[in-house]
Amino acid sequence: MASRTVLVIFGTRPEAIKMFPVVRALADRAGITVRTCVTAQHRGLLDQVLSIADLVPDIDLDLMEPGQTLDRLTARLLTALGGVMDRETPDRVIVQGDTATAMAGALAAYYRKVPVAHVEAGLRSGDIYHPWPEEINRRIVAPIADLHFAPTQTAAAALARENITDGVHVTGNTVIDALHWTGARIAADPLMAAGLDTTLARFAGKRIVLVTTHRRENFGDGMAAIARAIARIAARDDVAVLFPMHPNPNVASVMDAILGDAPNVARIAPLDYPHFIRALGACDLALTDSGGVQEEAPAFGKPVLVMRETTERPEGVAAGTARLVGTDEDRIVSEVFTLLDDKGAYAAMARAHNPFGDGHAAKRIAGIVADAFGL
Ligand code: UDP
Repeated sequence: MASRTVLVIFGTRPEAIKMFPVVRALADRAGITVRTCVTAQHRGLLDQVLSIADLVPDIDLDLMEPGQTLDRLTARLLTALGGVMDRETPDRVIVQGDTATAMAGALAAYYRKVPVAHVEAGLRSGDIYHPWPEEINRRIVAPIADLHFAPTQTAAAALARENITDGVHVTGNTVIDALHWTGARIAADPLMAAGLDTTLARFAGKRIVLVTTHRRENFGDGMAAIARAIARIAARDDVAVLFPMHPNPNVASVMDAILGDAPNVARIAPLDYPHFIRALGACDLALTDSGGVQEEAPAFGKPVLVMRETTERPEGVAAGTARLVGTDEDRIVSEVFTLLDDKGAYAAMARAHNPFGDGHAAKRIAGIVADAFGL
């Protein structure tokens, strides 16, 4: 039988982290030709991951444009991805998660009646404005896809509530595959993550709070409240804040204005994945509005305080290792101080567990894709 072509599409840092294990697993399957297309919706952050994962995309659309509106981004993605599909004529398209790239990729495939598989299917916050616009992006992919790779039973149940039960497979989240693969590489070559040596030496003896923030719905007042909270947390002598900063100007401008050069705050450039994993291992707790960090921190037994009102990843909250704290300045400060000062409260949240996967999700996904081709 002729080889079947799978077009794997992604464009942002989290998609690349979660897709590279899938690309590798598909490439290991006889009878499947993998073609990778990056939209480069986030150029620099995407390239960091491509380089660590030794992944050279077959097609690079380079569509990032500073300040472009969601309308323009979506229109450009749809047109460009449609063109790619016309040239590549894939037998299947695979998208990941909830980005504009995933939504436009699924839609362009649908317009050509090419079957779509959705990696990390079934995440729902139930609120179309949190996270915005991701909640709608992923809901648009769902009725188009014929294969839904739900990371957890909770995600599969969310799909069932939308009457999507055919083609749903609980595979685990591929982020845990990425974490294991990268962790093994760091263990073999610690120099891969040695760039943090100086900062961690400077913070020796202090409790480290790892901060990331980039959510669109937190821009403006939310970001200013987060900045003021960080300043109050870092005012303690026994605490240091490690803050790899997202390049979005809506984050940097506010942090510059409010945090300035606070001595206990290491505001650093976005870390590549091995360095970020090391940071997660080195911190005492994570304060974040990221989706991926909510999935990774439990694997390290690190408490996560989530600066959002809702989460589409309730598994950590249900297990007691994550807590939603929103973006109220006083609430953030008091939740962080409770974890730093109350040993019992800390111990209750600092339990290593892996509700999001066992590190073998990508292999399962590749097997199901091969089965769907009858290979
Ligand atoms: N991450 C990284 N370097 C950083 C911050 C985050 O490699 O400086 C990784 C992190 O490990 C996680 C992913 O980026 O896997 C999360 O991406 P982000 O928070 O940008 O997006 P979200 O997960 O919220 O969609």
